[in-house]
Amino acid sequence: MEAIADFKRLQPGGRYQPANCVARHRVAIIVPYRDREEHLRMFLYHMHPVLQRQQLDYGIFVVEQAGSDAFNRASLLNAGAMESLKQHDFQCFVFHDVDLLMEDDRNLYTCPQQPRHMSVAVDSMHYKLAYPQLFGGVSAVNREQFELVNGFSNQYWGWGGEDDDMYNRLTFHHLYIARYPANIARYKMVKHKHAKVNPKRFDLLRKGKKRFTTDGLSSLEYQVKDVSLEKLYTRVLIDFSR
Ligand code: UDP
Ligand code: MN
Repeated sequence: MEAIADFKRLQPGGRYQPANCVARHRVAIIVPYRDREEHLRMFLYHMHPVLQRQQLDYGIFVVEQAGSDAFNRASLLNAGAMESLKQHDFQCFVFHDVDLLMEDDRNLYTCPQQPRHMSVAVDSMHYKLAYPQLFGGVSAVNREQFELVNGFSNQYWGWGGEDDDMYNRLTFHHLYIARYPANIARYKMVKHKHAKVNPKRFDLLRKGKKRFTTDGLSSLEYQVKDVSLEKLYTRVLIDFSR
């Protein structure tokens, strides 16, 4: 694997800057995480070579939820974005499920002009976009856009809905979803068991608009239990319990 050689150039915490140029894009890859060790290993070995070939100034932040409450992907992404900015002046965030492996180098992890949904064609979905509003899986937003929409809602515990809520936030603020063509924006999803769905997700979504300004970055509460600079990533351990 030629890929592994470049791991030598990684800075602690899975940070990288190209050797011979100043990167145009400073990108924080934010990975929501709990108890998927095997996926994480595959993800890290897969992504670093890709991101380095793309000559990005980047860091990979694995945001782990402590405890055994229902998983809150959206709040982890909010917290991860905020924590990444304490480390570096990132211009944008790529929110990235740990189990998605990109297939084509033309799928650029650069900072987007409009929010970019990146996991357009996933093998487990027969390489077809499930519905046009989809913003889950892998998506990129720049810092200004993320702040404008008040980040993700913090109310989605368990599987589903948080990405659609973000879609609603973006369109409410007249932001449009951009996508690369489906022959480029291709991913494999590592097989896994399906999590328990959140039965409240439809209700939350329907009433989401009322909470756009009060629920999100503006109401985010968490404790950082640990930040550690691993070789291939920065681990941020987050506790939401109060
Ligand atoms: N996730 C995790 N541990 C969990 C549940 C979710 O790490 O127990 C993270 C992981 O990054 C995963 C993402 O949240 O890829 C989305 O969850 P999942 O893959 O279960 O959703 P699906 O692929 O079924 O939509
Ligand atoms: Mn998955």
